[in-house]
Amino acid sequence: MVSLDKIVSFCKRRGYIFPGSEIYGGLGGTWDYGPLGVALKNNIKHAFWHRMVNTRQDVVGIDAAILMNPKVWEASGHVQAFTDPLVECKICHQRFRADQPDEIKDHESTHKGRNPPAGGDWTEPKKFNLLVEAKLGVVEDAKQKVYLRGEITQGVHVNFKNILDSTRMQIPFGVGQIGKAFRNEITPGNFTFRSREFEQMELQFYTEPAKKEADKWYEYWKNERMNWYLTLGMTKSKLRFRQHEEGERAHYAIDAWDIEYDSPFGWKEFEGIHNRGDWDLSQHQKHSGVDMSYFDQKTGKKYIPYIIETSGGVDRAALFFLIDAYSEDNGRVVLKLSPELAPYKVAVFPLLANKPDLVKKAREVYSQLSTVHSLLPVDWDDRGNIGKRYFAQDEIGTPYCITIDFDTLKDDTVTIRDRDTTKQQRVKISKLAETLSKKLP
Ligand code: ATP
Repeated sequence: MVSLDKIVSFCKRRGYIFPGSEIYGGLGGTWDYGPLGVALKNNIKHAFWHRMVNTRQDVVGIDAAILMNPKVWEASGHVQAFTDPLVECKICHQRFRADQPDEIKDHESTHKGRNPPAGGDWTEPKKFNLLVEAKLGVVEDAKQKVYLRGEITQGVHVNFKNILDSTRMQIPFGVGQIGKAFRNEITPGNFTFRSREFEQMELQFYTEPAKKEADKWYEYWKNERMNWYLTLGMTKSKLRFRQHEEGERAHYAIDAWDIEYDSPFGWKEFEGIHNRGDWDLSQHQKHSGVDMSYFDQKTGKKYIPYIIETSGGVDRAALFFLIDAYSEDNGRVVLKLSPELAPYKVAVFPLLANKPDLVKKAREVYSQLSTVHSLLPVDWDDRGNIGKRYFAQDEIGTPYCITIDFDTLKDDTVTIRDRDTTKQQRVKISKLAETLSKKLP
């Protein structure tokens, strides 16, 4: 398996991910997505929205504000219970999560042989709240304390009534959302895996408040979400479900299962599927005084629905898609991203950059492909020799390269070269877009 160090330097070198605010020495737990990174992330989000919202009649979307009335976070329990246990090393005063034994052990080993000896030299665990605070308002002393949302979930639940009143949705139905969340993580690390600013892609699915009904949907969404990762090319043997143990679950969860990936730093969660029961809507009803119940016209029953939630991290998914796709073959790096996720679907090259006839023809092919929606975006490269250009496109994950050579000028054919097999095929330019569209989703 590729090491994390290699992925970090690869991401920087090829413009996938850069350290945040790097020229000022960085800012812990923040990352910037470069030209290829933003394309990958957009493709992940698009695939999520397509599968989870656009192609389903029982799901609608929402885009709620990051800043919310602070009462939301009191009602949701985050002000009180969104905490991690924190311990401090008595030798160097660095802080760690008490529930991350690997990090504690790693840190202890850095103090080996020191006086006082490592191990046991930790403060008692303290609760540390993860909500990031901000101040809003124009007059300095009247500024209002707000929180940057710690999960995107609440923006959906506070709009439950608005969604019901403005659509014809009937239970069971879901609401999809993608957006940024912020957590004051004690120990950000493992590259983007644990950041302080990250993106989530979620579905909140409302069901009748009956165990059997909620369990049925729970199983359904677990499988849907696992299949989503599989259809986007993740290796099946590197994925598993893990159920949270008693005591491990978040304050809102009746049941919780994670989808985990076998990463270079162990099996790690990148999506959580939770049965939130009626926690969120009951709490908002209690704290806002607004009736959050649902009236079922068919049965005449009035109830507060249960919520089955699928909560994935866009950044963790991007990282694990990159790790999963990275392969090396005799020094040739090939990023075997599924075409749906690849930043560029196609690259076009003139065989030689100093032959105007070739460049002109290649420009024509490039313009032609750049209007075919399913092939976008198309890359262009005329630097160095053709082998190096293939190498560079393999490394960033472009599934197909089109070369315009001297035969093209004679018979209007080009080569299509396949990233994974390196096989080449000659095709008439008039058939090129159609041939590529068939190969790409
Ligand atoms: P962890 O136990 O790793 O802190 P969590 O169980 O608190 O994660 P959830 O609250 O279930 O995570 O959030 C849902 C998803 O949001 C996670 O599966 C993950 O993909 C993403 N996520 C949560 N915290 C972070 C973070 N600090 N950085 C990047 N992604 C995150």
